[in-house]
Amino acid sequence: MTDATPGTVRLRATLESIPRYVAGKPAAEQPGRTTYKISSNENPYPPLPSVLQVVQDAMLSMNRYPDMGTVALREAIAQRFDVDADQVATGTGSVGLLGTLLQITSGPGDEVVYAWRSFEAYPIVVGLSGATGLQVPLDGEARHDLKAMADAITERTRLVIVCSPNNPTGPAVRADELEEFLERVPSDVLVVLDEAYLEFNHDADAADALAVWRSHPNVAVLRTFSKAYGLAGLRVGYCIAHEQVASALRTAAVPFGVSHVAQQAAIASLAAYDELDERVQALVAERDRLLIGLRDLGYPVPDTQANFVWLPLGDKTLDFAAAAEAAGVVVRPFAGDGVRCSVGEVEATDRLLQVAADFANRAG
Ligand SMILES: *Cc1c(COP(=O)(O)O)cnc(C)c1O
Repeated sequence: MTDATPGTVRLRATLESIPRYVAGKPAAEQPGRTTYKISSNENPYPPLPSVLQVVQDAMLSMNRYPDMGTVALREAIAQRFDVDADQVATGTGSVGLLGTLLQITSGPGDEVVYAWRSFEAYPIVVGLSGATGLQVPLDGEARHDLKAMADAITERTRLVIVCSPNNPTGPAVRADELEEFLERVPSDVLVVLDEAYLEFNHDADAADALAVWRSHPNVAVLRTFSKAYGLAGLRVGYCIAHEQVASALRTAAVPFGVSHVAQQAAIASLAAYDELDERVQALVAERDRLLIGLRDLGYPVPDTQANFVWLPLGDKTLDFAAAAEAAGVVVRPFAGDGVRCSVGEVEATDRLLQVAADFANRAG
């Protein structure tokens, strides 16, 4: 006999401290007009016909397990980025790989350093690992404070995550500051550069992550097919890492995690990247229109190199989100902090700018 509550089992205590992932809300229908979901940084374009065809063909073998080694996909990635296929690991989105990166580096008693506010999956994957997360506040321009992050590293640190461009605030990490930072990181601490929004980054001073990776044995680069490539629903991402880390990631991966459909769609999307890039550049132009429009209205929007903008609205955050939703554009509020608005359809940008103008007037 034990005195446990009947009907409950013992789960890991760490679960109690893990925040819930808040998925971007879908846009509810409204009579007489189109509504827009700009809450999840998704690509608003439908799949390319060439990719859709490959997916339809790939579905015909859904009774079979996929290639567990994702060999063809890893080779396509290797060729595209001029790395070795042994230096590539794949996963169920880069969030899946993040979880695996924690599993191979960190556990109870270890520390993981990352900026905050940043990607909301970080405290979840770190918490699940049992390691202690050290959140280093962003600076006054919503950028990573890499000096403070270097100061936060101790002999217990096993992993540092650098998100560039940073979700949800937008700025990218500069080459010079990243180099200075890496000089201060012990060579046995893994530094992961999360580049989910790489393709949208036009900052001439931004770090070239692959070049940084080549010259630092303790750096890995995390990327995804979810954003620029428009495959968010298929769950596939990749990590470019030196062989020790890439091999550990493949060992620890969920067997058969990346479906055959996802593998084939990713390969086809790499082949069709020129066509996808036209869309990415159109989104970048739309982002810049949104950024300028919001700044003209007086909103202090930080620089953004991603497919979203950040409105640091503080205690007006939830009011703004409600006003946007009423106008048929669903944004992603972070209560008490700010609102992240993804770049979507042109009409969604127009609608959001109108909401922002009305909100500024109302707020005086
Ligand atoms: C969207 C995003 C990802 C990618 O998520 P997937 O699991 O690949 O869909 C990773 N990192 C950041 C910072 C993101 O915003």
